[in-house]
Amino acid sequence: MASESYRCDAAIIGAGAVGLAIARRLALAGDEVVLLERNANFGMETSSRNSEVIHAGIYYPCGSLKARLCAEGKHLLYAFCESHGVGFRRLGKMIVATQAGQQAKLEGIMQAAADNGVRDLTRLSKTDIAALEPELSATEGLLSPSTGIINSHQYMLALLGDAESAGAHLVRGAEVAAIARTEDGYRLTVNNDGETLALESRILVNSGGLWAQRVAALVEELDQRFVPPLFLAKGNYTTLTVKSPFRHLVYPVPEPGGLGVHLTLDMAGAARFGPNVEWLDNSDPAAIDYTVSPGMPELFAPRIAQYWPAVTAAILAPGYSGVRPKIAGPKEASADFRIDGPGVHGLPGLVNLFGIESPGLTASLAIADHVERLLRG
Ligand SMILES: Cc1cc2nc3c(=O)[nH]c(=O)nc-3n(C[C@H](O)[C@H](O)[C@H](O)COP(=O)(O)OP(=O)(O)OC[C@H]3O[C@@H](n4cnc5c(N)ncnc54)[C@H](O)[C@@H]3O)c2cc1C
Repeated sequence: MASESYRCDAAIIGAGAVGLAIARRLALAGDEVVLLERNANFGMETSSRNSEVIHAGIYYPCGSLKARLCAEGKHLLYAFCESHGVGFRRLGKMIVATQAGQQAKLEGIMQAAADNGVRDLTRLSKTDIAALEPELSATEGLLSPSTGIINSHQYMLALLGDAESAGAHLVRGAEVAAIARTEDGYRLTVNNDGETLALESRILVNSGGLWAQRVAALVEELDQRFVPPLFLAKGNYTTLTVKSPFRHLVYPVPEPGGLGVHLTLDMAGAARFGPNVEWLDNSDPAAIDYTVSPGMPELFAPRIAQYWPAVTAAILAPGYSGVRPKIAGPKEASADFRIDGPGVHGLPGLVNLFGIESPGLTASLAIADHVERLLRG
């Protein structure tokens, strides 16, 4: 087994959308960046198992990182897609009330959006809804015109392209197995294709997604008080096997832990429903089973029928799934993103990112700017 040693300015652990955006940001700022990814390629976990929605930033508590970084990130992301030729569509999203008593929830959503600086929501009457989406059954709703969709693979490829042009290196199949402190930074032990590499770096960013707690636990001298618990909440999708009659994204009013079984469209116009919220008993990311149960169409159909009466389980098929790396459990209030810099844990040059669930894809460019600010003090 060979052992080689390298040095860089910034080591980023995890090449999902967030790690790639951070690598790009730091490389463009002039740091020599090495991005380490345990899988055979970038973006093989949560970043390719999501709804690919560019969120407007409506629901998050005012002043939270989710609210701020989603609103900032949305603008940055649309501009990035335009300048880099990444596929996207500003389709708009309808949030629909289907039962008596949900009107107050719509009011609350409108207010939360305004508090977050999202002021482009408009109200929809039953007639407006029928004109926009004739197959929908809803009493009233809201339209968010700045919600859209993105081709997340093209996005990650473009981030990598920028990062590499600025000198960053992505090492695929490279699992960080140990992290020691040095005089001026960190020494990482990396298992790469049967070899062990040593990488020394002044800056260390843990963007390990579902594994971020595991990575943080490796950091020598990091007080484990600064590693939050991990809860996994699986989100299952079903796909529509017939041509979609919808042109907008359609969301029921939110449910605890998620946004309800909603309808999203991909860049080809195909519709999928979900994700639901299925809390996993085992919080070990290595034990995740991404299989979607064959019973999912039967489970989803009645929930979708609340806003699309024509749906039947027969036109739905089990789709794919993704898992949310939550840091608050099923009985707790939903948590904010947790992005801990040296000001929190006291270790210079280290940033840990925990709980980067939705809207992490939308917020990724703004998260990268935020991480850079934490590092530069
Ligand atoms: C069901 C679902 C739907 C979602 N829908 C949306 C949406 O519509 N819009 C939106 O904005 N957001 C959405 N999100 C959230 C979004 O997908 C995530 O916030 C985002 O993809 C997180 O990116 P990441 O880079 O932090 O994590 P990941 O994509 O999980 O990447 C982390 C990477 O770290 C690597 N890694 C871990 N440990 C190590 C190690 N020791 N050594 C080397 N590499 C390591 C992993 O292999 C992985 O590739 C959704 C999430 C889910 C689960």
